[in-house]
Amino acid sequence: NAASAPGSDSGEGPKKRIAVMTSGGDAPGMNSAVRAVIRTAIHRGCEAYAVYEGYEGLVRGGDYIREMTWGDVRGYLSIGGTSIGTARCARFREREGRLEAAKNMIEAGIDGLIVCGGDGSLTGADLFRAEWPSLIAELAEKGHITKELAEEHKHLYICGLVGSIDNDMSSTDATIGAYSSLDRICEMVDYIDATAQSHSRAFVIEVMGRHCGWLALMAGIATGADYVFIPEKPPKKEGWSDQMVSIVKRHRERGMRKTIVIVAEGAIDNELRPITPEMVKDVLVDLGLDTRITTLGHVQRGGTAVAFDRLLGTLQGVDAVDAILSATPETPSPMIGIIENKIVRRNLVEAVALTKSVAEAIEAKDFTKAMNLRDSEFCEHLDNFMLLTSADTVPKHPAEHPLNIAIINIGAPAGGMNAALRAAAAYCFSRGHKPYAIHNGWTGLARHESVREINWLEVEQWAIQGGSEIGTNRNLPEVDLGMIAYYFQKYSFDGLIIIGGFEAYHSLHQLEQARFAYPAFRIPMVCLPATISNNVPGTEYSLGTDTCLNALVTYCDVVKQSASATRHRAFVVEVQGGNSGYVAAYAGLVTGAHIIYTPEEGISFSQLGADIEFLKKCYKEDQGRNRAGRLIVRNEKASKIFTTQMLVDIIHEEAKGAFEAREAVPGHVQQGGVPSPMDRIRATRLGVQCVHFLENNQKLRSSPTAEATDMFSVIGIRSSKLVFTPVSILWETETEIKTRRPNKVFWSGLLRTAEMMNGRPRIDSSN
Ligand code: ATP
Repeated sequence: NAASAPGSDSGEGPKKRIAVMTSGGDAPGMNSAVRAVIRTAIHRGCEAYAVYEGYEGLVRGGDYIREMTWGDVRGYLSIGGTSIGTARCARFREREGRLEAAKNMIEAGIDGLIVCGGDGSLTGADLFRAEWPSLIAELAEKGHITKELAEEHKHLYICGLVGSIDNDMSSTDATIGAYSSLDRICEMVDYIDATAQSHSRAFVIEVMGRHCGWLALMAGIATGADYVFIPEKPPKKEGWSDQMVSIVKRHRERGMRKTIVIVAEGAIDNELRPITPEMVKDVLVDLGLDTRITTLGHVQRGGTAVAFDRLLGTLQGVDAVDAILSATPETPSPMIGIIENKIVRRNLVEAVALTKSVAEAIEAKDFTKAMNLRDSEFCEHLDNFMLLTSADTVPKHPAEHPLNIAIINIGAPAGGMNAALRAAAAYCFSRGHKPYAIHNGWTGLARHESVREINWLEVEQWAIQGGSEIGTNRNLPEVDLGMIAYYFQKYSFDGLIIIGGFEAYHSLHQLEQARFAYPAFRIPMVCLPATISNNVPGTEYSLGTDTCLNALVTYCDVVKQSASATRHRAFVVEVQGGNSGYVAAYAGLVTGAHIIYTPEEGISFSQLGADIEFLKKCYKEDQGRNRAGRLIVRNEKASKIFTTQMLVDIIHEEAKGAFEAREAVPGHVQQGGVPSPMDRIRATRLGVQCVHFLENNQKLRSSPTAEATDMFSVIGIRSSKLVFTPVSILWETETEIKTRRPNKVFWSGLLRTAEMMNGRPRIDSSN
């Protein structure tokens, strides 16, 4: 129960009672948020409650509002939808319903309410808070509550979490559930793609999104669809299909065997007339294409959450409790969002108003305003989609000085490498630049002159491919700097994109240093981090990590299930990541691992001893009911001494029959098969940004001075920003060369959050 919360923060002072509810349409990841709220509240010394069935439960009261214990939310991470139920509640829209809800809240003694839902749910929450003083006064006046109770509960604290698959909320980059839904959509489109290719067919695929085209647009980018129809950017009523027709015709003329058009549920023309899948199909049939319609429907809502949604739900749930605990009566109600890689608090009222204004702008046919009201990244994605789909041999926006751009992949393959190359090449086509692929890394270039001009039709198919189509290897340019420089000169390269992990970063550093000896290297160069280890300085995100984490989540869920089915079993899962514990920390947090070992923190005797005692205590508390498998996630290099097998043996031995320990090593499964939609979308964005960078830094080529170092940079996402940082600065100040990782760990918060979520006692604070 609450009192036995492991490692509780509870201090003196009045306990708050915090309740969480889910409302509106269900979304994968809501359960992670509920789990995080319950456990954080208990950890902080509060009493935690769940309101079942959304506002309906609040209005009904009684058993719908239940105190929750630590163990009540066990296993929630891997369950799709919401386990505390959700409903659409007409009564809450009326003051009478809200009065009843207020009475029930006071009876349960709740003074903080965290609502996870879409804009409708958050509007309701905001109204509830605004009305609260008058609701309390009315309840006291009618004698439903005493004056003392009215005084005690005169303030209500609300916090919003955005749970919605549509990703339609302003002021946040992602809503809880959106990436899971996108994952489902892309999986389906990938299947359809295969049959479309085989039969040379056209498919029109309808996806959810009544007022928001995010799912349709992102699915379009991630799957390399030919065209998308979204509500924010409607075509003119007359000739609504013209642009699609010309693109599809052109693609077919150039040899494409399949056609995929994605239509958002709310797609319209500029007179607000719906554009339906049937209308699109008719047009494609007129083009002579054998066309089918697939409506994805509720599969888009279902299933377990992807790694990112589990993380988002968890981190936002933690922050929501902290926001409630630090709120004063004057604090405006917050909504927790995420910008790039940073969890942020936004004014709930303003975020909801902004969101509603998009729908209003569409209603008023002011589509420019609707697009402007969407965040800038949405517009950037739309531009990128149009750029990719209409890439042609005739440049659409020719550059004044066309460039020869080289692209190379270095290191192990990572999900999104191909999509990045495709995007960079498409942008080059649109500008009249010539993109070249260097095949099989530096050795390929130095030994075999493996340079090929990139062909549109070839890369067009690469959006969804895993691995590295142009090959890759780990060697650095030092294999033969002279030959490499010779070929750079021979092909007159004006810029270079190096896609890969730490070796890619190291390559950039070597070329930057070599520019003094070899003039051919005095050109802008950019490293696009792509590695499942996420150990490249200058970024908090590398292509491939999301794919890897999804593969690990699937793997660990299965292992955990097997451990639960077998009495008292714990699995030690060995994950990759080299000397970087990022993947271990992230995977451990989102799979609910009880213990996480990273190279940064190592494994000490004392901690291991405490961990075994902790596990024993957990299994003892199960007492035959609520059996749960338990995971220990160990990074492959967490300790030289305590290997995975040795850990298993020690734990098994020391458990003295209280439970068994087993090993599980996912190995190369972690590189993932098909890259995740997030990796494909980010690859597209970063790939285009890299070519922008090469264009924008041409002027530095002639500069022999210090600022020339700016033209050798790493592109990265840091906190809430996309940034380019010169490799010279990163190498000097942020790199631990021996261990091949950044010298500052930006993700240690994940480990601390995991400890709060699983109650592991931490006795070792080395590092
Ligand atoms: P989704 O994005 O999945 O549709 P949503 O939260 O926007 O989620 P809604 O059906 O709009 O879903 O809202 C859920 C519930 O929130 C409603 O059934 C109602 O109880 C409450 N609600 C919505 N709007 C209001 C409002 N203006 N005033 C009071 N309550 C509201």
